[in-house]
Amino acid sequence: MGTAIDPRGYDIDALRERVLPERAGERATSIPQLADADPELCAIALALPDGSVRSTSGGRTPFSIQSAVKPFLFALALADTDGRALERVGIEPTGEAFDAIKLESDTGRPPNPMVNAGAILTCALVQGGSPDARTDRILTGLSRFAGRRLDIDDAVARSEHLLGDRNHALAHLMRAEGTLAVSADDAVAVYASACAVLVDAETLAVMGATLALGGVNPVTGERVVSAEIARDTVAVMATCGVYDGSGRWMRAVGVPAKSSVSGAIVLSAPGSLGAALVSPPLDEQGTSVRGRIAAAELSAGLGLHVFG
Ligand code: GLN
Repeated sequence: MGTAIDPRGYDIDALRERVLPERAGERATSIPQLADADPELCAIALALPDGSVRSTSGGRTPFSIQSAVKPFLFALALADTDGRALERVGIEPTGEAFDAIKLESDTGRPPNPMVNAGAILTCALVQGGSPDARTDRILTGLSRFAGRRLDIDDAVARSEHLLGDRNHALAHLMRAEGTLAVSADDAVAVYASACAVLVDAETLAVMGATLALGGVNPVTGERVVSAEIARDTVAVMATCGVYDGSGRWMRAVGVPAKSSVSGAIVLSAPGSLGAALVSPPLDEQGTSVRGRIAAAELSAGLGLHVFG
């Protein structure tokens, strides 16, 4: 599906100015680094099929990717297992919070790869015989989506590992159900590192574009995953990417997306573009308030709604 309006002429700076006065929402408090995030950070970035990338003020400010990493972890797990990851993790929306202690009752599988349980599992499915090897594989894979070498914020990774009690609980539950093949602590350690990868709005937009454009990075021209994996990933973003806000998101914005507690949202508009919005204050579902408003405006302005 092509965009109705040429995104090259769209004024993202004016959009940023319109959402900046919005004061609702609270920063995440799960780790000190997120609690201390700048609430005034507000950035919008677009990555287009011609490889052009542009952003507003703040578009190069680094932040930890957090749950916006989950679609890419799923894609890498699909690639590394020849699609068999789909037997190990469900793809149904939960209608519950991102960290709900819940597995599929009949199979013991995580409900989908966009909630924490599912992402802890997809981290364990990527290639590598040790936590360090899997972390390396994830970092290399994410860097190909981004088109540049990414790094982990070690302090954030340590905080996530130390303070992620619900993630440890989920990993132990999956061990008990026989769905997680590696130790619970190893699984959480790799997931914590994946959440702590540093990106900026421009980078995240390129990552979203790579999924939106059939698995080929529009900046480097490199095929990162197959077209089928890119399509499967975007489909699951559409149904599960905004947790228990996914239905409302799909109606109001209509662009497959993934939210995160750092206030970043990655959007993959199929066949059209990738975008990223970041602003730390979150609503009850853990979605950036300014990001949600900007995404709806961007979608309407560019004719991106997949059912539009
Ligand atoms: N690292 C966070 C966690 O596991 C990610 C959650 C999110 O961004 N929604 O709690």
